Amino acid sequence: MLNTFECQQCGQRLYPKRRVCPSCHAQKLVPVPDPQGIILSTVTDPNAQPTNHVNLVRTQRGVLLLTRSATALKEGQTVSITDNNNKLISTTTDGDI
Ligand SMILES: [Zn+2]
Repeated sequence: MLNTFECQQCGQRLYPKRRVCPSCHAQKLVPVPDPQGIILSTVTDPNAQPTNHVNLVRTQRGVLLLTRSATALKEGQTVSITDNNNKLISTTTDGDI
Protein backbone atom coordinates (compact mmCIF):
# COMPACT_ATOMS: atom_id res chain seq x y z
CA MET A 1 0.00 0.00 0.00
CA LEU A 2 1.24 3.44 -0.87
CA ASN A 3 1.81 6.22 1.64
CA THR A 4 2.12 9.78 0.39
CA PHE A 5 3.38 12.54 2.67
CA GLU A 6 1.63 15.54 4.14
CA CYS A 7 3.16 18.67 5.61
CA GLN A 8 1.82 19.23 9.10
CA GLN A 9 2.39 22.97 8.81
CA CYS A 10 0.81 23.90 5.45
CA GLY A 11 -0.96 20.75 4.25
CA GLN A 12 1.15 20.27 1.09
CA ARG A 13 0.97 16.67 -0.11
CA LEU A 14 3.81 15.03 -1.99
CA TYR A 15 5.58 11.85 -3.00
CA PRO A 16 8.30 10.76 -2.56
CA LYS A 17 9.12 12.10 0.90
CA ARG A 18 11.52 15.02 1.11
CA ARG A 19 13.50 16.37 4.00
CA VAL A 20 11.64 19.67 3.97
CA CYS A 21 8.29 20.81 2.57
CA PRO A 22 8.83 22.49 -0.84
CA SER A 23 6.12 25.05 -0.03
CA CYS A 24 6.89 26.21 3.52
CA HIS A 25 10.25 24.52 4.33
CA ALA A 26 8.86 22.85 7.45
CA GLN A 27 10.37 19.49 8.39
CA LYS A 28 7.11 17.98 9.61
CA LEU A 29 6.20 15.59 6.78
CA VAL A 30 4.15 12.61 7.90
CA PRO A 31 3.11 9.52 5.92
CA VAL A 32 -0.59 9.15 5.18
CA PRO A 33 -2.23 6.12 3.54
CA ASP A 34 -3.04 6.95 -0.09
CA PRO A 35 -3.54 3.56 -1.75
CA GLN A 36 -5.78 4.43 -4.71
CA GLY A 37 -5.94 6.86 -7.60
CA ILE A 38 -7.48 7.69 -10.95
CA ILE A 39 -5.71 7.22 -14.29
CA LEU A 40 -5.37 10.63 -15.98
CA SER A 41 -3.33 9.52 -18.98
CA THR A 42 -1.42 6.49 -20.16
CA VAL A 43 1.26 5.67 -22.73
CA THR A 44 3.00 2.46 -23.76
CA ASP A 45 6.77 2.08 -23.65
CA PRO A 46 7.70 -0.86 -25.91
CA ASN A 47 11.16 -1.12 -24.34
CA ALA A 48 10.07 -1.64 -20.74
CA GLN A 49 8.70 -5.17 -20.53
CA PRO A 50 6.81 -6.45 -18.61
CA THR A 51 5.47 -3.30 -16.97
CA ASN A 52 5.49 -1.35 -20.19
CA HIS A 53 2.49 0.89 -19.63
CA VAL A 54 3.25 4.25 -17.99
CA ASN A 55 0.36 5.97 -16.26
CA LEU A 56 -0.17 9.45 -14.89
CA VAL A 57 -2.24 8.93 -11.75
CA ARG A 58 -3.85 11.39 -9.35
CA THR A 59 -4.15 9.81 -5.92
CA GLN A 60 -7.19 10.22 -3.70
CA ARG A 61 -5.24 12.85 -1.77
CA GLY A 62 -4.39 14.77 -4.94
CA VAL A 63 -0.76 13.76 -5.50
CA LEU A 64 0.31 13.30 -9.14
CA LEU A 65 2.42 10.20 -9.76
CA LEU A 66 3.90 8.28 -12.67
CA THR A 67 3.22 4.57 -12.25
CA ARG A 68 3.74 1.48 -14.36
CA SER A 69 1.42 -1.42 -15.12
CA ALA A 70 1.69 -4.71 -16.96
CA THR A 71 -1.68 -4.19 -18.64
CA ALA A 72 -3.12 -1.23 -20.49
CA LEU A 73 -5.28 0.88 -18.19
CA LYS A 74 -7.91 3.38 -19.25
CA GLU A 75 -8.26 7.06 -18.45
CA GLY A 76 -10.71 7.53 -15.60
CA GLN A 77 -10.09 4.04 -14.21
CA THR A 78 -9.61 3.64 -10.45
CA VAL A 79 -6.42 1.79 -9.57
CA SER A 80 -4.55 0.58 -6.53
CA ILE A 81 -0.98 1.87 -6.23
CA THR A 82 1.85 -0.02 -4.59
CA ASP A 83 5.48 0.91 -4.05
CA ASN A 84 7.65 -2.00 -5.22
CA ASN A 85 11.23 -1.01 -4.26
CA ASN A 86 10.62 2.61 -5.28
CA LYS A 87 8.88 1.55 -8.48
CA LEU A 88 5.23 2.53 -8.39
CA ILE A 89 2.86 -0.09 -9.80
CA SER A 90 -0.80 0.44 -10.68
CA THR A 91 -3.24 -2.44 -10.66
CA THR A 92 -6.94 -2.44 -11.27
CA THR A 93 -8.96 -2.42 -8.08
CA ASP A 94 -10.64 -5.68 -9.08
CA GLY A 95 -7.34 -7.53 -8.77
CA ASP A 96 -6.08 -7.74 -12.36
CA ILE A 97 -2.39 -7.07 -12.88
ZN1 LIG B 1 4.53 22.88 4.21
